[in-house]
Order: sequence, then C-alpha cells, then structure tokens
Amino acid sequence: MAGYGLCKIRKNMKMNKYISLAVLLLLAGCGQSGIEEGANTSLEQKQYNWRLVTAWPKNYPGLGMAPERIADLVEEMSNGQMKITVYGAGEQVPAFGVFDAVSSGSHQMGHSGGYFWKGKVPAAQFFTGVPFGLTADEINAWTNRGGGLELWREIYEPFNIYPIPAGNTGTQMFGWFNKEINSLEDIKGLKMRIPGIGGEVLKRAGGIPVTLPGGELFTALQTGVIDATEWVGPYNDLTFGFQQTAKYYYYPGWHEPGSMLELLINKDAWDTLPKHLQVIIETASKAVNQDILDEYTARNNKALRELVDVHGVELRRLPDDVITEFKIIANDILEENAAEDETVNKVYQSYLKFKNEVSEYHKVSEDAFVEARSN
Ligand code: CA
Repeated sequence: MAGYGLCKIRKNMKMNKYISLAVLLLLAGCGQSGIEEGANTSLEQKQYNWRLVTAWPKNYPGLGMAPERIADLVEEMSNGQMKITVYGAGEQVPAFGVFDAVSSGSHQMGHSGGYFWKGKVPAAQFFTGVPFGLTADEINAWTNRGGGLELWREIYEPFNIYPIPAGNTGTQMFGWFNKEINSLEDIKGLKMRIPGIGGEVLKRAGGIPVTLPGGELFTALQTGVIDATEWVGPYNDLTFGFQQTAKYYYYPGWHEPGSMLELLINKDAWDTLPKHLQVIIETASKAVNQDILDEYTARNNKALRELVDVHGVELRRLPDDVITEFKIIANDILEENAAEDETVNKVYQSYLKFKNEVSEYHKVSEDAFVEARSN
C-alpha cells in the first residue's frame, strides 16, 4: 500500500526536484499502470453483473426509479466493477414473485415493499408501515437508529435474504372512490385494493380487501373488478390515470403513514462480495432512500393541484368518526397479531415503544410547529 501512495503522489503532484534517491528508487517500480496493478487483489478486481427484479413497472416514477438509481450509483461508485440490470414487474418474474426469486437465488437482488410478503413473513409489514404508525422520518429513525434494522435482518435471515431500506413514499392518500364515504356504512361491501394491515382493517369494517400489483389497478378499477383503490399519492396516482375512472380522492392515508421500500439481496450472493462493494451498495441505498422521499415531497403537491384544477377530481377528507373507528380496529388487529406470533410480537414491541417515545417528542416539536405554521 506504501507503493500505491507514492505512485499517486507522482501522478497527481509536481515532484520536488530535490526528492531523495530512495524515493525515486521506490517509484521506479510503479510503471504507468502501477497504481491499479498494485492496489487490487484478484477478488477486488472481479467483475460483478447482477440482476434485480422489482414489484414495479419498469422506470415507474418514484418506486421504480429507486432501484434504477441504486444501480447507477453502484456502477459509478465502483468504477464499473459492479453492474446491476433492473427488470420491471413481469419482465423476468411477476411483481409478487420478487421475494421468492431473491430467496432462491435465481436473482441476486429485488426491490419491493415488505407488506407484500405478509403471508410468508407476517412481521415484514412493520418494515413498510402499519396503519397509524411511523411517518417517513420516524421509520427511518427506528430502522437505522432504533434497532429496527437488526430485527428486519433477523426475520429475513431464514429466507436467505439481506434487506436494506431503499426509498420512502412519505404519507400516502387513502385513495380513489366512486361514492362518498360519509360513515362506516359506506365501507360495507366495498371491494377495495388495499394491501397489508390496512386491508385487514377494511375487512373488519365490512369491506372486501384485494391485493393487486400497481400495474393492474387502472383496468381493475375501470372494469369494476374493484370499487375503489389506494395506490400511493398524487405524483404516482396521476401517472396511472385514476382520475379518469374515479371521482373522489380521499385522505388521509391512515393505512400507510410513511411506507418504506426495500432492497432485497440474496444472502449467499451478498457474502461473496468484497467489503468495498458491500459498503457501496449500503451507501447508495441510503442515499436513494432519502432521494425518493425528497422526490415525492417535491412532486406531490403539483400533481394534486393538477388532479383537482385540471381533471376536476373532488378531494375529500374521511370523516373523523370513520378515522377513529379505523384506528381502534387497527390497534386491535396489531395486538391480536402480536399475541398469536412470537416474532410479530418482538417486532411490534420494538416498533410500538419507538412510536410512543418519538410521538411524545414530536408533540412538542414537529406537530406543534406545523400547527403553529398553519394558524
Ligand atoms: Ca399504497
């Protein structure tokens, strides 16, 4: 490594003409390409070409661009040593086949939302978000600084998957309806696309939750396969054209207060990487995790104005008593799920403790400030 440093000096700086003979002798061994040759072992030079499957349409704004940006950053930061090819949903595996593809090792990487895997890993839902749970900043803090990440890796470990946070949508919208929701009676019999625990809440309130990948939602809503749908927020919803098939756009997104996206990596493949590439992937994902949230924050308001002002969408707030009822049901479900499953309980207790603590502080900081700003 001493030779590497000296070669660098020769390349980047004007040499002092009085440089000692000893140093000149050392430099003589460098050669024109001595920097690269001297610095790398064979493992560090190996080329990695990985495939990444996603639960999103190819190049889809926000969600689908997260893995594209991670791939670009990894290639640049590794100076081309690692190339990741990103596939949209259905190109190599279906949207909901991403977890199995990464688990089996047929693909080294995936990008998705943990709540899609609730049938396999019930506790995974906490790492996307749960109703009336943590906002984007809060879930990042719990995951990265509050013990969440260690729990997440523990629950995916039996599936041979190493997860990394990789994007966040911010607070979502409740979604698109063709009838007004004035009371819980209006939920009864309503067939709505809503994943995760939000779907369980809808079911207990008398609705019929459906899980469909994003790319199928417009047609399902247009053809009456579903009566209503949630997706993400104005920026994404506008691109799918829901304004053409539904009249009312409801808020708040009580079911998804700050949904975190996940980069999934096959653990065996991860373990073959040299340390510097692991650090590059972790660092690129961390940058993109924030970048995607920034994109949503910057784009959502403009898209909402377009939906309302140009397309005539009617924006509606859910009645308070409906929100309160959803909250009671959501808490019941979370408690019941925790009582039935030791792993869910372990994750839930960590999540709940963090939520209670951060909520106390946010009451006198962010919540109080936002209230003061709007008055
Ligand atoms: Ca959603």
